[in-house]
Amino acid sequence: MDCIFCKISRREVLATVVFEDADVMAFDDIHPQAPVHILVIPRTHIQSIAHIEADHNDVIAKLVYTAKHIAAEKGLAGYKLVFNVGRQGGQVVDHLHLHLLGGWEKPEDWKKGFKI
Ligand code: AMP
Ligand code: ZN
Repeated sequence: MDCIFCKISRREVLATVVFEDADVMAFDDIHPQAPVHILVIPRTHIQSIAHIEADHNDVIAKLVYTAKHIAAEKGLAGYKLVFNVGRQGGQVVDHLHLHLLGGWEKPEDWKKGFKI
């Protein structure tokens, strides 16, 4: 598949990988919007949340579980998990990805919206 995140998954494009297994991969976002900004993707090419089917339930749960696991490993007491869905939802890369954002130190930053 000629898709940037498929290429990262196949290690054809370099990324700072923080976790991977047979189902998912997690890597640093190249343009971080928070002190910690990691993308969690399925190995399978799924365009977006608008394209999931019932048999994707396990992989969606795995994305969330992986994000929770990474957040705990990084010692994040709180964080945001975001799926941008479609162009009007701000999605620019058409391979499903879960944004994990956190690491803000100042309380006034905790309630900031996620703009990307
Ligand atoms: P979205 O707007 O939800 O589609 O988010 C796509 C995200 O992918 C953006 O935050 C980009 O900074 C990030 N991104 C695009 N290309 C790369 C790349 N090669 N490596 C890491 N992150 C990337
Ligand atoms: Zn892809």
